Amino acid sequence: MASPESGTEPSEALETLRRVFGYDAFRPGQGEIIEHLVGGGDAFVLMPTGGGKSLCYQIPALVRKGTGVVISPLIALMQDQVDALRALGVQAGFLNSTQDLDERRVVEAQFLAGELDVLYLAPERLRVPAAVELLDRGDVALFAIDEAHCVSQWGHNFRPDYLMLSGLHERWPHIPRIALTATATEATRAEIVSRLGLENARSFVASFDRPNIQYRIEPKTDAKRQLLHLLQSEHKGDAGIVYCLSRNSVEKHAEFLTQNGIEALPYHAGLDAGTRAAHQARFLREDGLVMVATIAFGMGIDKPDVRFVAHLDLPKSVEGYYQETGRAGRDGQPSTAWLAYGLQDVVQLRKMIDGEGDAAYRRRESLHLDSMLALCETVECRRVRLLAYFGQSGEPCGNCDTCLTPPQTWDATVPAQKVLSTVVRLDRERRQKFGAGHIVDILLGKKNAKIIQFDHDSLTVFGIGAELRDTEWRAVVRQLLAQGLVAVESQYGSLVLTDESGAVLRGERTVMMRREPERPATRAARTAKERKAPPADLSAEAVPVFERLRAWRGATAKEQGVPAYVIFHDATLREIATTRPGSLAELGTVTGVGENKLAKYGEQVLEALGVEDG
Ligand code: ADP
Ligand code: ZN
Repeated sequence: MASPESGTEPSEALETLRRVFGYDAFRPGQGEIIEHLVGGGDAFVLMPTGGGKSLCYQIPALVRKGTGVVISPLIALMQDQVDALRALGVQAGFLNSTQDLDERRVVEAQFLAGELDVLYLAPERLRVPAAVELLDRGDVALFAIDEAHCVSQWGHNFRPDYLMLSGLHERWPHIPRIALTATATEATRAEIVSRLGLENARSFVASFDRPNIQYRIEPKTDAKRQLLHLLQSEHKGDAGIVYCLSRNSVEKHAEFLTQNGIEALPYHAGLDAGTRAAHQARFLREDGLVMVATIAFGMGIDKPDVRFVAHLDLPKSVEGYYQETGRAGRDGQPSTAWLAYGLQDVVQLRKMIDGEGDAAYRRRESLHLDSMLALCETVECRRVRLLAYFGQSGEPCGNCDTCLTPPQTWDATVPAQKVLSTVVRLDRERRQKFGAGHIVDILLGKKNAKIIQFDHDSLTVFGIGAELRDTEWRAVVRQLLAQGLVAVESQYGSLVLTDESGAVLRGERTVMMRREPERPATRAARTAKERKAPPADLSAEAVPVFERLRAWRGATAKEQGVPAYVIFHDATLREIATTRPGSLAELGTVTGVGENKLAKYGEQVLEALGVEDG
């Protein structure tokens, strides 16, 4: 295949990228990482979801002699990963606990005979001496440690079996290792490197920016209606994930979407394993399904065409938020990360944290939540804030809600004082729950039953808040909570003062707040203003062609029992529908059409395009 720089031969790695995967060029970082590994070096790779980590070990596995052994905790996804490689003509297999002895023997024999390019291995296999001996007898090209953050006891995905991976280097000192993750604050990164003994490995840290994801965070008014509006107005027929905090909420929202004509499935740890696996398989295989889930869902889901991730509850940390939203748009096409959050979320999470673990744990969780709240209440570019959290810098992006419809800031010192004064007056009645709603009712001078019962209409603060509406007062309380100027008392859930409230009450401190823009940003606003993400829209003539190709792909995927994206990605079908190649040779130049897929599907695609015998 011709190289773009005339005269120079493409490297073996680049040649493999083009021939096997059908891609023209490496993504940022990939080329260097691959050359380093092919040359026998160890690597630590930090790259966002969708950055293209898999190629970083798959290509060296193909180029180097022997089998690339990939250690992955994602047992349920191994079959799909192997199917995807086989569709490209790569010899791949896996070994994990779901197989019976006969199935394992077949794979082991292939490995020993040197027939495998890539072997996926569950980490717990390394506990079995026979598996270690197997690796000794075969020819290993490299070890890839996927989802490397699982070695971190600090994070929430810790897998004890990962601790054994530190032994790889001692046993096989000459086999290059590559550890990959998309999760990493400084602390996690350091822990991975030390636990896996990668101090001498070269570290590759890619930008965490995901320019095709539009970040939007809006106040929760009526979560169901807001979600439905988002899906109907911007994501009709799209695949997406809706995250909820509780199992109950998952069930409720899945049912609600279904009732409103949107195909949605629930996923949470309370469902039996069979149902979970079936729902996950449907989400991966079918087009346009919505998964309503707790955070139990998603790790390693490499479906490339997830068009939106919606959060109906506040994530507990920026890292969690980034991971979860990162599951949108792996294919680089425009996608939405949308979060609705409200006062109740803050109250609930603060209470949850207070009721868990030891003091150190609570302090850490509380810091995580503070950063998340700061991201929610920022008046700056969301992306800039997000990148800053991971220690990276960026420019205002033009593709987040604060860039598209900038919110105003306002001096909320006086309203803040009113809220705090009310909190002070209620402080004497500690054995009652006086939450945010009650405080707002007092400020607005509402004579409801609870107010009359406790004689709160006689307080001096009763009715002093006519200048703001109910929703505005709630936003004030929410932001006071976010800024740590009030807290939630853990036993009854009442609002209480913090160490910092005094300065506000005494007028020594100004409180600035975010005022929501009148109309929140929508995708329509994005299309008009934003130029960075590639257009997903097809021309009028291309639409029916795309639909025809999609129907063909759906039928073929079903016949072969693999996810549709294993055949071709949407982006590839789109390019075919737009350029309408007239021959196999032309079809071969389309991104995502490699040698094997061209041979296997080329004729069928041309037929679907109505091309006479190419
Ligand atoms: P990660 O594991 O980092 O989340 P993947 O390895 O799954 O990302 O890659 C994300 C998507 O990008 C996949 O669909 C992959 O085929 C595609 N991709 C990876 N590298 C390239 C490249 N150099 N050119 C085009 N597409 C690529
Ligand atoms: Zn922005």
